[in-house]
Amino acid sequence: MLKCVNIMKRYVAGDVLTTALNHVSLEVGTGEYVAIMGPSGCGKSTLLSILGMLDTGDSGEYWFEGQNVSGWSEARLSARRRGRVGFIFIEELSVAENVELALEYSDGPARERRERVAHLLDKLDLSCRASHRPSQLSGGQQQRVAIARALITKPAVLLADEPTGNLDSAHGEDVLRLLDQISAEGTTIVMVTHSASQAARAARTVDLLDGAIAEPATAASSN
Ligand code: ADP
Repeated sequence: MLKCVNIMKRYVAGDVLTTALNHVSLEVGTGEYVAIMGPSGCGKSTLLSILGMLDTGDSGEYWFEGQNVSGWSEARLSARRRGRVGFIFIEELSVAENVELALEYSDGPARERRERVAHLLDKLDLSCRASHRPSQLSGGQQQRVAIARALITKPAVLLADEPTGNLDSAHGEDVLRLLDQISAEGTTIVMVTHSASQAARAARTVDLLDGAIAEPATAASSN
């Protein structure tokens, strides 16, 4: 389903060269639920961006659903991920923009998209918050935004970056339960997390350290 071969990714900021990913090779099978763990700055978000075709490596190959997409243009990558890749991360967009962003990847006229967004916000009891930014929402409301984004398309691959964010444990548990459910329905999931207990929900954990996979992926205890 997803395959990285020897991916390198470096950032230059002023005089400082940072190696975000250092020869990363990783395979994720169809329907697998994989957690990516590691300390802050080890390259987790960079890897997730490449898996979601939001970014590309400097060298190495990335294969998505059997297709080598290395070196593709942004436009081509965006067309490739449309309707196939979903993202759960809370960012500084308004609630309605957040949900509509997920729809960007599916076909259909803008008016129809907005109707679907409005319908979903209504269903999740978020209509009156449509123009709010996530920082203006309570933890529970932010969580429902994340869920709305996950529900709006039925992606083959779902990528989640710290999906429970700063939620309290009850709300965090709701999000994790949703991921369990989406996984059981056959969606391939890659989740970045700092929490070992969250990672244990996945079938496999990949540890990143200084941009490299720290040790061979091991089977986790749950599932
Ligand atoms: P993580 O998600 O594990 O915290 P990241 O993938 O965000 O790690 O970042 C990996 C490394 O790359 C870090 O050292 C970070 O500072 C650096 N980095 C990430 N994005 C950029 C960028 N746009 N410009 C410069 N450095 C970056």
